[in-house]
Amino acid sequence: MAIKRREFIKTAGSTIAGMAVGSAVSFGVAEARKRALGNTVQSYHVNTSGPARMKLSFEPYELQLRHTFTVASYSRTTTPDVQVKIEYDGFTGYGEASMPPYLGQTVESVTSFLRKVDLGQFKDPFMMEDILSYVDSLSEGDTAAKAAVDIALHDLVGKMMGQPWFRIWGLDPAKAPDTTFTIGIDTPEVVREKTRECAGKFNILKVKVGLDNDKEMIETIREITDLPIAVDANQGWKDKHKALEMINWLAEHGVVMVEQPMPKEMLDDNAWITENSPLPVFADEAIQRLADIPAIKGAYSGINIKLMKCTGMREAWRMASYARSEGMKVMVGCMTETSCAVSAAAQLSPIVDFADLDGNLLISNDRFEGMTVVKGKITLPDRPGIGITPIGHNLI
Ligand SMILES: [Mg+2]
Repeated sequence: MAIKRREFIKTAGSTIAGMAVGSAVSFGVAEARKRALGNTVQSYHVNTSGPARMKLSFEPYELQLRHTFTVASYSRTTTPDVQVKIEYDGFTGYGEASMPPYLGQTVESVTSFLRKVDLGQFKDPFMMEDILSYVDSLSEGDTAAKAAVDIALHDLVGKMMGQPWFRIWGLDPAKAPDTTFTIGIDTPEVVREKTRECAGKFNILKVKVGLDNDKEMIETIREITDLPIAVDANQGWKDKHKALEMINWLAEHGVVMVEQPMPKEMLDDNAWITENSPLPVFADEAIQRLADIPAIKGAYSGINIKLMKCTGMREAWRMASYARSEGMKVMVGCMTETSCAVSAAAQLSPIVDFADLDGNLLISNDRFEGMTVVKGKITLPDRPGIGITPIGHNLI
């Protein structure tokens, strides 16, 4: 059959993707491609005999925040970040590690981890199970560094298949939710200004609480808008009775969910709050990876999945599936990140209850175009991989 190898890979990939996701790709197109391939079931054809090998490269990149970011435990104006690229046979996949201080990872720890990663030993990027299990086995932690490799590999493989990941996973992009937009703890003047700035662009706000001015924050926002509010206490409340009292007050003021009310170590207290709360309570600091879910089951209504905590898209997908099977709610969040990691997380958004994917909007030096927010709603570009296009110069 006269078909160039790259076109063949793309076509075969699309067919397999169509088979995997059922109705997400029209049967007519899949059938036409199947016929074009000789009406036989085709496996991926990747040339493993040639010289092509995956090449990983990376570059530290400091994210500049638009506003000083304050949560219950610290303030900051930049976030350290490492940009990653995997190249294979003319395709390029992009990934990213973002390291907010509380994760305990640094540019040094991430670059030192990435130097250990030898993708050259794998002949086929589609061997994602083997590759990402190997990457995970290289150390105990380093979740952001692992996520960077995972995201770049997903981007690469999606591009080779010619399909975005929401489609490979069988998700309807029309079901992507509104994203929250975060308003940090600040003076009433600044909170008013930030609220005015985003009230016309977003349909749900997220407010950091957990200090001693929680009611003031909410009341200040309520001077400007009636939009629903998600609150994140970031473990800031220390007494369960006071926390529940506050949650009841918040529920009367249009708050729709609560994230990490008390310190993660206080599991019984968080469980008591969840049992008595009129609002769903999500674990964030209390949950990192898939293996953490059983221990917190029952103590929270749902989990906040973040790629930088859970090692990337592969595990995020499994966490969402597992949490759902246990009757838990799911939200997807992010760190301050470029549109690279945010667009990767957004691929999962059609199956979540809440999405907090504003990290790319909080920085002034993005390097990609990808997921956008249109009238408050997450809008996924119909581009392969994680759907991003590099902007700017000197990218790695
Ligand atoms: Mg949080």
